[in-house]
Amino acid sequence: MTKTSTARAAAPASSRPAAAAKSRSHDAAADFRQLAARALAQRSDGHSAEACLNAVAIASRTLLADRWALTQQADARRKGVRRVHYLSMEFLMGRALGNALAAIGMHEQVEAALPEGAPALGEVLEHEPDAALGNGGLGRLAACFLDSFASLGLPSFGYGLRYKHGMFAQHIQDGRQVEQPDEWLRHGSAWELPRHELRYPVGFGGTVVNEGGQRRWVPAQAVVAQAVDFIVPGHGTERVSTLRQWQAEAARPIDFPTFCRGEFASAGAHLQEAEALNWVLYPDDSTPAGRELRLKQEFLLVSASLQDTLARHLREFGDVHSYGRLNAVHLNDTHPAMAPAELMRLLLDEHGLGWDEAWKITSQAVSYTNHTLMPEALETWPVSLFEALLPRHLEIVYEINRRFLDEVRARFPGDDAMAARVSLIDEGAHGGERRVRMAALAIVASHKVNGVSALHSRLMVETIFADYAKLWPQRFINVTNGVTPRRWLEQANPGLSALLDKTIGDGWRADLSQLSELGAKAGQKRLGQEFMKVKLANKQRLADHIRRELGINVDPHSLFDVQIKRIHEYKRQLLNVLHVVARYQAIIANPSAHWTPRTVIFAGKAASAYRAAKLVIQLIHDVARVVNSDPRVGDKLKVVFLPNYSVSLAQIILPAADLSEQISTAGTEASGTGNMKFALNGACTIGTWDGANIEMAEGMDAVSPRKDGASNMFVFGLLTEEVARIKALGYDPRLYVEENRQLKAVLDAITGGVFSWGDPDRYRALVQPLLQHDPYLLMADFAAYVECQKTVDALYDEPTAWAERALRNIAGMGFFSTDRTIGEYVQQVWAAPAKR
Ligand SMILES: *Cc1c(COP(=O)(O)O)cnc(C)c1O
Repeated sequence: MTKTSTARAAAPASSRPAAAAKSRSHDAAADFRQLAARALAQRSDGHSAEACLNAVAIASRTLLADRWALTQQADARRKGVRRVHYLSMEFLMGRALGNALAAIGMHEQVEAALPEGAPALGEVLEHEPDAALGNGGLGRLAACFLDSFASLGLPSFGYGLRYKHGMFAQHIQDGRQVEQPDEWLRHGSAWELPRHELRYPVGFGGTVVNEGGQRRWVPAQAVVAQAVDFIVPGHGTERVSTLRQWQAEAARPIDFPTFCRGEFASAGAHLQEAEALNWVLYPDDSTPAGRELRLKQEFLLVSASLQDTLARHLREFGDVHSYGRLNAVHLNDTHPAMAPAELMRLLLDEHGLGWDEAWKITSQAVSYTNHTLMPEALETWPVSLFEALLPRHLEIVYEINRRFLDEVRARFPGDDAMAARVSLIDEGAHGGERRVRMAALAIVASHKVNGVSALHSRLMVETIFADYAKLWPQRFINVTNGVTPRRWLEQANPGLSALLDKTIGDGWRADLSQLSELGAKAGQKRLGQEFMKVKLANKQRLADHIRRELGINVDPHSLFDVQIKRIHEYKRQLLNVLHVVARYQAIIANPSAHWTPRTVIFAGKAASAYRAAKLVIQLIHDVARVVNSDPRVGDKLKVVFLPNYSVSLAQIILPAADLSEQISTAGTEASGTGNMKFALNGACTIGTWDGANIEMAEGMDAVSPRKDGASNMFVFGLLTEEVARIKALGYDPRLYVEENRQLKAVLDAITGGVFSWGDPDRYRALVQPLLQHDPYLLMADFAAYVECQKTVDALYDEPTAWAERALRNIAGMGFFSTDRTIGEYVQQVWAAPAKR
């Protein structure tokens, strides 16, 4: 299927005559089998799943490496076309092989290449570890972007770090999260192509010297950044894109005299120090942990990537003057926000440009995506640390700031408060230390700054970036997130994909807007039945998985109510738990009433230092233990926590979900992308009016309006403006508890030790704040949430109506492909350098 859709960009092979292409693909198939056979023959365990995995990966990689070369040649020929460079500290890729086989259409060859006695392909694929080089939504967005880059044929590179240990593995012991290192590279990665010719020096510390009027940085420490490529295949095209990851290596070999004196450890200490840069992905994307190492990681990414883009540009064009016109450098959040300072340094100090031209080139190239409105998550670095590690960059930041503040004062004369608010330097009033504001640096240097959903982009310019928006209103835009339908529908849900192919044709893979054709058919009874059959099979598969992993039996006919995402207070998993407890209490108060059976499924990791989030995980386990073992409850309610949430686990859970929980406090979730994956897989959404939920509901209701005019989404809770108003008036959560007997009973049960073996203290730190500040307004939204859940039950009791609603939901999801998202970035951000 994927092979037949036409490539939408100048794919290298698409212009060849069909016969030549056909014989070429025949050769490719033969080559592929031969490569896999050779790789297998070279192993002593030729029949093991591991060996097969490795062999197939090597064969795929070889084929893709050829396509990579053709793609690069084609791009180099397309003079005058801008290349996009997407800098991100996180790429949450998941498994690669299944995706690659789908993209290159080699499933049959693989089956043929597997030796006698080897496990089935499906089992082989399960042996690939996830490349979990990201924490959550931000990293997964970057991975979906790479898929669209390749499939759209956009000349582009992703740039990241090659972490030895990705996101930690989550184990559960006695209901508590225990973190263990993720060893995804233990068996090596057959996917990577080390590029030994691409090595760049990256310095830290030292001093800045004056040489004939020219500033020059003399670092005290130097490492070498070595490129390791991860090839990302396009779908429906032979183009591939590249994730170039940097591996830090020591600049010098071991110290030989020291070694000969027998001091082995100190002879190699600098090797260890360099490699430490690649040891871990920091397990939290909102707090700068391990400060110095984290800052070094960020600079490693920025410096190596920019040197690489400059080297390529010089190879192709001979001089740096056209760099800004022909290169886009995009910052995925502020983690790579050192890029403008480093690009300025390279242009000024290494290439000898003057300030004005260097600045013009920099701001032509750079653009930035903001991912959160939470002020505490905005990255800043102490000036002292910045200066110690990057003295020349601090000089440059000061100079950027001096010029910028001159402009601010000229435009807002007399408004010193404004200048202080927008300055790149937080002067550390009230005895705090002076800090560099990375978001400010990113905004000042960028020609475009975007938020990731309509609501988030609006709030961004109304709140955290209001001052900058006053200076440059045109600079701020919205580009709503998406997900790739290849991984999240085609590969995750073959059953639904086949049903869609049969119903609306197979063009949705490359053009997701075609899903709207489902709108007119959503009411067909037969289609609804087939949809429910596919859903049930997916639920059975998940039920089997749950039994294998946890030993819990769940009924695949019960409503699968799912919340899977990072555990965070603003995402309000706790509100979900409160509803579960309320339902539990209602069931045991009246066991013989009609109850719509539910299985409530959670998955998600908590940052290792995030106490409240870890307590929520423990509470889920405690509630599950009590509910699941209560004979009065039986199949009416089950609670399940699946450990170690990951891309691969999401691919099993999403297709089986009936209900998607997207219940963040209005105004806190920038976009969400999990919400999109669920709806695409035919789950109905219960959600707040937040992030991309809003555009999803609008999309569904526009494409497939209901006769009664009500929304296709189960929407509840306070709106962003109401949240702000309640807080401004002095929110008192106790008032909500006092007037709601059900809510009071829920909290009393938790604090009374019903779920903690009689221990009243275990959840005090969770419940007390709800009664005092409740910053995420769980108490205010509880009643509406419980009411809304009743309407969910009522619809689920009518399978025909439920199926129709789910199909309407899918029909409205055509907008939420990263192909559309990337199209907007190209048009509004990356295509042409903005005039300033
Ligand atoms: C999509 C995805 C996320 C983001 O989920 P949200 O619900 O948008 O927070 C996080 N982790 C993984 C593994 C994902 O696939």
